[in-house]
Amino acid sequence: MTAELKPSTTPTHDRPLTAAQSTRIRTRLVADLKDAHDLETQLSHEIADGIESRRGSSNDEIDDPEGSNTAFEGAQSRAMLKQTTQHAREISEALARLDQGSYGTCSSCGGAIAKGRLEARPSTQHCIACAA
Ligand SMILES: [Zn+2]
Repeated sequence: MTAELKPSTTPTHDRPLTAAQSTRIRTRLVADLKDAHDLETQLSHEIADGIESRRGSSNDEIDDPEGSNTAFEGAQSRAMLKQTTQHAREISEALARLDQGSYGTCSSCGGAIAKGRLEARPSTQHCIACAA
């Protein structure tokens, strides 16, 4: 009377993470967070330098056609900084979820996030269906 479960949906990734797995993910997240913070610092400097060089050394760049290019790069750096800040926040949140034991659970549907996805993107908080 009950419909047969499709074998293709066997939730092999439904089990909670083993201690070794969560340690590995934590190590990776901590390293990623450090990288993100380093990149944030670097981009902040680049943006500050860009503003400085436009203000200060414009003497020999009077008819430099790259003037607008510099502004473009500045905008790019700012966009990248925004992205990096967002990424750093995702990583911090992932670490918090790891502490709370809710890591690997989709924050939209409450389902388990496939391990392959967590490996590829450890800071993710959505399963592949909800992220799509
Ligand atoms: Zn989901």
